[in-house]
Amino acid sequence: WQMRLAAAADGMRVVHLSDRSENAATERMRVDFVANASHELRTPLASILGYVETLDDEAGDDPAIRHRFLRIMMDEARRMQRLVEDLLSLSRIEAERYRLPDQPVALGELVDEVCAELKRSGAPRAADVSCIAVSGIPDIVGDRAQLSQMLHNLVGNAMKYGRPGTPVEVRLEPDAGGGARLSVVDQGDGIAPEHLPRLTERFYRVDAGRSRSLGGTGLGLAIVKHVVERHRGRLDISSRVGVGTTMAVTLPAAPAALSSPRNNDVTE
Ligand code: ADP
Repeated sequence: WQMRLAAAADGMRVVHLSDRSENAATERMRVDFVANASHELRTPLASILGYVETLDDEAGDDPAIRHRFLRIMMDEARRMQRLVEDLLSLSRIEAERYRLPDQPVALGELVDEVCAELKRSGAPRAADVSCIAVSGIPDIVGDRAQLSQMLHNLVGNAMKYGRPGTPVEVRLEPDAGGGARLSVVDQGDGIAPEHLPRLTERFYRVDAGRSRSLGGTGLGLAIVKHVVERHRGRLDISSRVGVGTTMAVTLPAAPAALSSPRNNDVTE
C-alpha cells in the first residue's frame, strides 16, 4: 500500500491510498528471500551442532568415529560458507545495479583465464571443459570480476548437471549488434520447459536434493541474471530434456544508461 499526500486546488490536503501491487510483490519476495536464506543456513548449522554434541559424549573417544564426524562437519561448514559467499555477491551486485560498469574487458582473455583456473582447480570434470574463443573480439565495457563470476557459475552448472564424460563447451563469438555472445553448452539431462521461466529466481531448483548433493546454493543463476542486467545484456536458456542445455549471454559493446532507474527494477 502506498500513501500519497497531494495538495488539492483549494489548498485542502488529499490522501490517496492505492494498492501498489508491484511494491507488495517486491516486499513479498524480500520476505521469502530472508526466510529461504535462513532455512538454507539453519539445516547445515543444526547438523554441525548435532555432531558436536555427539562428539562431546563418549563417541568422541573413538578415533574412527571422530574422523568421520569431523569430515561431515567440514562439508556442512563449507556448504554454509558457499551460501554466505553467494549471498554477499548477490547483495554487492544488487547494490551496484544503478551504477554502470566502466572497465574495458577483453572477453577472450577472461574466457581463457576462467578455463585455466578450472583446469588448475582439479575439479572432477575440469578435463571435459573446452574453451573456444573467436579471435579479434573487441573489448567490451563491463565489470571484469562480475563477468568472471558469471562465467564460473555457468560453467560450474554445466559441469554439475552435464553427464560425466561428456564435453562442456564455452564459446565466445561476436554478436551482430557489435557486442559479444558467450555460450556454455552441456550434454546433460536438460531442463523441462515449465522450469525455464523460474530458473533465475533465488533458491529455485529443479531438483533440490540433487543440487545440494552437488554443492549447489540455488543462487548461481540469480547472480548470473543480476550481472547480465547490470551489463544491459540478455540471458537465453535453451534446453532439451535428455539432450542438454545451452546458456547464452549476449553483452552489448558498452551498456547504456536507462532513462529511469525504475525501468531496471529487479523483481526476483
Ligand atoms: P544451483 O546451485 O542449485 O545449481 P543455480 O541457481 O545455479 O543453483 O541453478 C538453479 C537450478 O537450475 C539448478 O538447481 C538446476 O536444477 C538448474 N540448472 C542450472 N543449470 C543447469 C544445467 N546446465 N543443466 C540442467 N539444469 C540446470
